[in-house]
Amino acid sequence: MKKTPWIWKNGQLIQWDDALTHVLTHTLHYGGGAFEGIRLYPTEKGPAIFRLQEHVDRLVYSCGVLGMDLPWDGPAIFDAIVETVRRNGLNYGYIRPIAYFGFGELGVSAKGNPNELAIACWEWDAYFAHELIDIKVSKYRRINPEATVIDAKICGHYVNGILSSLEIQNTHYHEALFLTADDHIAEGAGENFFIVADGKLLTPPLGHILPGITRATIMQLARDQGLPVEERNLRLEDALQADEAFFTGTAVEVTPIGSINDQPIGNGQVGPITAQIKQLYQDVVHGRVPAYQSFLTPVAGNEQLAS
Ligand code: PMP
Repeated sequence: MKKTPWIWKNGQLIQWDDALTHVLTHTLHYGGGAFEGIRLYPTEKGPAIFRLQEHVDRLVYSCGVLGMDLPWDGPAIFDAIVETVRRNGLNYGYIRPIAYFGFGELGVSAKGNPNELAIACWEWDAYFAHELIDIKVSKYRRINPEATVIDAKICGHYVNGILSSLEIQNTHYHEALFLTADDHIAEGAGENFFIVADGKLLTPPLGHILPGITRATIMQLARDQGLPVEERNLRLEDALQADEAFFTGTAVEVTPIGSINDQPIGNGQVGPITAQIKQLYQDVVHGRVPAYQSFLTPVAGNEQLAS
């Protein structure tokens, strides 16, 4: 990871190397934190943050689920993110705000701990090294929505993803796909899942998945293009018989899937609809489509402020 000069922590920009926390930080032990992953893209009008408002809204929601009472509201977090990017002089990359219970008490209940917020950003290119990925159904099921608040982006949820990543480590698979306990496709470790079948986009409904901001964007772009989109339960057989499949997410953007469990999807190449959606998404995030300019928050005055 390439360091940037500044990290915002509890209202102040401090040096990257000084952004440390105590080993008895409550969230480190129990996973009760909330975070976001946001991308910043170069556009003709300078760097711009993609769908910042939606990310801030989801972060505020996730903090609420955890009973976290941050001293910063949504608009203050929005401004702090823009300021962090601006002061780092970043032109593209990834932004990671994280809200967590700090150091105080170590009972499971987070009572008695400070509620803290940090915002870091850095240059980050493609998430996957390959344009077309091979995935495998995980032996672990997606966490049960009756055991947590599944639509919040909570740190502890990612243990499920870490375990699935361990499963594919040192194999030829690039990512794992989770099924639900009742054998429906849920999502990837950090991605939502789509297939193309009969000229339609199909994606699992909300309920067992993180409501991805990229997922919502792709659904909107597809519908605006006249491509029908349906949210419905999908089984593995539906995916294996599909014409095309892809993942979406802030980090992975639109990533075509070549095979699942070594069975090719369609002809095993990037399908034409996936290619079209992927290109449109790239045009939108880079500010090349006037109709979707409102998705972008320009970071004004982001010049050589990094030192
Ligand atoms: N599902 C999971 C489990 C994720 O971690 C992510 C990444 N945030 C996504 C889906 C995609 O969400 P988004 O498009 O908002 O990045």
